[in-house]
Amino acid sequence: MIDIRQYEIWFVTGSQHLYGPKTLEQVAEHAREIAGALGASEEMPVNVVFKPVITTPEAIKELCLEANSAKSCIGLITWMHTFSPAKMWIGGLTLLKKPFAHLHTQYNREIPWAEIDMNFMNLNQAAHGDREFGFIGSRLRLERKVVVGHWQNAEVQRELGVWARAAAAWADWQGAKIARFGDNMRDVAVTEGDKVEAQIKLGYDVYGYGVGDLVKAVDDATENEITAMMQAYLDEYEVAPALKPGGDSNASLREGARIEVGMRNFLKSGNFKAFTTTFEDLHGLTQLPGLAVQRLMRDGYGFGAEGDWKTSALVRAMKVMAAGLKGGVSFMEDYTYHFSASGDKVLGAHMLEICESIASNKPKLDILPLSIGGKADPVRLIFDANTGPAIGASLMDMGQRFRMVANVVDVVPTDHPLPKLPVARALWLPRPNLKVAAAAWIYAGGAHHTSFSYSVTAEHLRDFAEMAGIEFLLINEQTNVEEFKEKLRWNDLYYHLSKGL
Ligand code: MN
Repeated sequence: MIDIRQYEIWFVTGSQHLYGPKTLEQVAEHAREIAGALGASEEMPVNVVFKPVITTPEAIKELCLEANSAKSCIGLITWMHTFSPAKMWIGGLTLLKKPFAHLHTQYNREIPWAEIDMNFMNLNQAAHGDREFGFIGSRLRLERKVVVGHWQNAEVQRELGVWARAAAAWADWQGAKIARFGDNMRDVAVTEGDKVEAQIKLGYDVYGYGVGDLVKAVDDATENEITAMMQAYLDEYEVAPALKPGGDSNASLREGARIEVGMRNFLKSGNFKAFTTTFEDLHGLTQLPGLAVQRLMRDGYGFGAEGDWKTSALVRAMKVMAAGLKGGVSFMEDYTYHFSASGDKVLGAHMLEICESIASNKPKLDILPLSIGGKADPVRLIFDANTGPAIGASLMDMGQRFRMVANVVDVVPTDHPLPKLPVARALWLPRPNLKVAAAAWIYAGGAHHTSFSYSVTAEHLRDFAEMAGIEFLLINEQTNVEEFKEKLRWNDLYYHLSKGL
């Protein structure tokens, strides 16, 4: 399971010597109180660490270098209680490798009308101190999130919490290992991409394995491990009679358990955070891994089918963003449509691999034919997904850059039961509607595979994309196709020019 509580955000307050030690002591006291309140907020998923107030270029630079090398530090929240001349920040900010959020707040909530004097004015001057700091961020063209409002305000704390979740996912990607069993599904374009560029820009490393390496781990699964796994299945799911002990297909479930034990051991011993499979390369495996993939995703692994390493990495990132939140995150595919007067809907599913974290009911464990790939019938979990607002996001390699496109949707109950559909599924209404959403998605080159979540929002994804330098395109209730196409054209120009040589 993913635990992000060990991560730290450093609360950094800038000032200058001009104010004298007494004022600086007060600045430090206030900053400590704000850092404490942010850390204690239910919205903040990580620790907030107060750092001593910095007042010189040397101290700023030292702090930024310290942040770069501190493993637990995933980013900075900066605030200028008083004025901190921003030329002092150039040396540090140009070296800083961690994301930062600029909190534009003030210690005092309201002006004390009857008491206010110049001492108060000199202490509470973020209104201009933060603008000076903001200028240098923009002059240096640094990506950062600017959050405005009083630090006790719930919305301010929520915005910082969202950003901290994105920062945790970004930290998680750095040096992450992704295992790829087999290559890409033959001839598929969107799941391909430049893995070297991904490692340079996004920080994760994709390791290719012949499926034989996985088969070896599956063959090495011990009888005890397999028996324990079988018991977990019986405890956790509504198991079809044929799969139960003594049932006709019990041996197939045992084979599914062997595959899960082998995959789990392989991924754990290699310290992988995500993986891919492909149904075109299963030599030596009796079934396409369905159940195993579903359960590994539930436990926090990213996954992409058909060799889709980009979606696998994205599922992992969204699972980190969602850590501890209700809702769930799954690999997903836009599968089939329902055009109707009650609204055009998308039925999302995959051959097998939908994560049970999005299940609305206790999953049913069953065995059914796959009708593709020419392997034995695979065991799989079947369920309906939760209803409510959700988001689907996909990441593509556009040649010159990575692009993320996301669509906000509303998952609804199916119009009728689906007794013959042998896979987990979700039915949704895209926002603003299928006509606009699918057109925008297709113009953007969005993939058929997505990472789908009820807990991650467009705001998490935008913060994350900005940290990662990924183009971000959102399709929601405000989307207009013609404006969206304009945005695509302008973005092409922007990313071409901003990249330089
Ligand atoms: Mn697929």
